[in-house]
Amino acid sequence: KFIVFEGIDGAGKTTQMQLLAEFLHNNDIPVLCTREPGGTQIGGRLREVLLDRSCHNMSHRTEAFLYAADRAQHVAEIVRPALNSGVTVLCDRFIYSTVAYQGWGRGMEIALLQQINELATDGLLPDAVVLLDIPVLVGLRRVLKHRSPDRLEVEQQAFFQRVREGYLEQAARLPKIFRVLRGDGAVEMVHRNILKTLSDL
Ligand code: C5P
Ligand code: MG
Repeated sequence: KFIVFEGIDGAGKTTQMQLLAEFLHNNDIPVLCTREPGGTQIGGRLREVLLDRSCHNMSHRTEAFLYAADRAQHVAEIVRPALNSGVTVLCDRFIYSTVAYQGWGRGMEIALLQQINELATDGLLPDAVVLLDIPVLVGLRRVLKHRSPDRLEVEQQAFFQRVREGYLEQAARLPKIFRVLRGDGAVEMVHRNILKTLSDL
C-alpha cells in the first residue's frame, strides 16, 4: 500500500506518519517512511535549492519543475521499488502538495501542474491520502515554535489560506482516496482517528 500524508505546514504530517509507521511495524507490516521534497540524495540537493532564502527570486515554473524533478527521482528510486517488494510506503507530501502550493498558493494553472505531476510520477497514485486539515494560524504557530523560518514562512497567511482551500478542493474532487481529518486535536487522538480511517486498508 502507498499512503500519502498531506496538509499545510504545521498540520502534523511528519509526527503522524511516524506514529503510523510505529503501529505498522509493531504489527509486523513492513513499512518505509519517506518524504518530498528530499527523499533521495539528489532530492536532498533540490530541497536545499527550493528552501534557500537566497533563491527568493525563483520563477514559479522553475519551482514547479524542481519539485517535479525531486518527485521523479523519488518515485523511481524509492517509492516504486519499495511497493514492488511488498513494503507499505508512507510518504510526507506528494502530487497534491504541488496542486495546493504551486496551484492554489502561487496561482499556476492547475491543468499544467497535473500534467507535470503525471510526468513526474509516471502515473503512480496512492491508495489513500490522509489530509490533516488545520486552521492556518494554528499550523503556523506550531511551525514557528519548532523550526527556524525558511523561505515560505515569511509569506502571508493568505497564501496558506489558499493552500488549505486547495487541499480541501482536491479532497472533494477525489473522495475515493482522500481521508480528511482534523489535525488540531491532541497527537494521540489524531493518531487514533488515522488508524480508524485507514482500517479498511
Ligand atoms: O514537507 P515540509 O513541510 O518540510 O516542506 C518544506 C517546505 O516546502 C514547506 O515550507 C512547504 O510549505 C514548502 N512546499 C511548497 N510546495 C510544495 C511542497 C512543499 O512550497 N509542493
Ligand atoms: Mg513536516
